[in-house]
Amino acid sequence: MGGVTGPVLRADATVLRANIAAVTARVAPAELMIVVKDDGYGLGAAWAARVAVDAGVRWIGSYDIPTAIQLRAEIGDGPRLFAWVTSTDDEIAAALHAHVDLGVGSLDYLERVIVQADASGFRARIHLKIDTGLHRNGLSAAEWDEGVRIALDAQHRGMIDLVGAWSHLAEASDAEDDAAQARFLAAVARAEELGAVLPHQHLTASAATWERPELRGTLVRVGAFCFGVRSAGGPDLPGIAPAAELLAPVTRIEGDVAVIAVGSFDGLPSTLAGRIRVGTPAGPRPLRDIGIDEMRLEAWDSAAPGDEVLLFGRGRCGEETPTTLAEAIGTVGEEILCRLTPHVHREYR
Ligand SMILES: *Cc1c(COP(=O)(O)O)cnc(C)c1O
Repeated sequence: MGGVTGPVLRADATVLRANIAAVTARVAPAELMIVVKDDGYGLGAAWAARVAVDAGVRWIGSYDIPTAIQLRAEIGDGPRLFAWVTSTDDEIAAALHAHVDLGVGSLDYLERVIVQADASGFRARIHLKIDTGLHRNGLSAAEWDEGVRIALDAQHRGMIDLVGAWSHLAEASDAEDDAAQARFLAAVARAEELGAVLPHQHLTASAATWERPELRGTLVRVGAFCFGVRSAGGPDLPGIAPAAELLAPVTRIEGDVAVIAVGSFDGLPSTLAGRIRVGTPAGPRPLRDIGIDEMRLEAWDSAAPGDEVLLFGRGRCGEETPTTLAEAIGTVGEEILCRLTPHVHREYR
């Protein structure tokens, strides 16, 4: 305690491990791929990947290739890394050197991966994506047979291994997600008919993974819930707690106001003012206003410079969670975490 002069995001490996254990137990026999995009939801992708691998997680989802390559250096050769954003040829080549599994969601990208694999001599491990209704990325049903045939042909020629099929759900309604799963399963069945063997089949992110066991494939891609961020408007999650706290020191007392050293410059939305309570040594206090680099809240009797105030966390001082903050301003908990700037010091314990 003490000595903190500015805002600190304090990430706790014990909590992350407990969340991972809760997710892992809930999804078995499906396997967890922990998603660490957006620098591990603001907590630190490298830290999260190391904790996850120590906890026995064998799949890390990075979104982009540069992050995956950086993580490969952190976690060694054992765990699988999955990068799914359409990337440049140079990035593809680097991914193949680092044994990164690639998510492939267009015929053009498939051809480019095959060319890079041929040139590099490394077999690309690819997971082919079927668009099941989001229309963001993914082969359409009309392109699917051609994509599978091209992949299998390149596999026979020794350039790639088609190891998986995947898609992403809207999570807007159960009915829509059911329809998406039906399209997904039809695509998998068709690929198998064409001769594919697909050990890895994945469709769900946090919410659907948790609530809809019937939608889980062999793998589930879970980010938010591993970091303890429940869905906005969603239920509390037994065994899951926020893996980080945001704290800031009191810098001075002005009458009945305690001023703390964190503000909109650090990435906190100024619209939170008047809408949330923060955690203090004397319990929750209303947040009155948010300036560029400081905030003002109702003081308590013994309030003094150096006292730590929690903006969000697990509630140990009456503070709210990232998702409760998000709900107060109509957004999602991930947004609260991911907007925190590098000015917020990251501390790991
Ligand atoms: C972000 C993302 C996930 C993880 O989503 P959460 O809701 O944070 O679990 C899974 N899959 C894809 C494709 C994603 O973009």
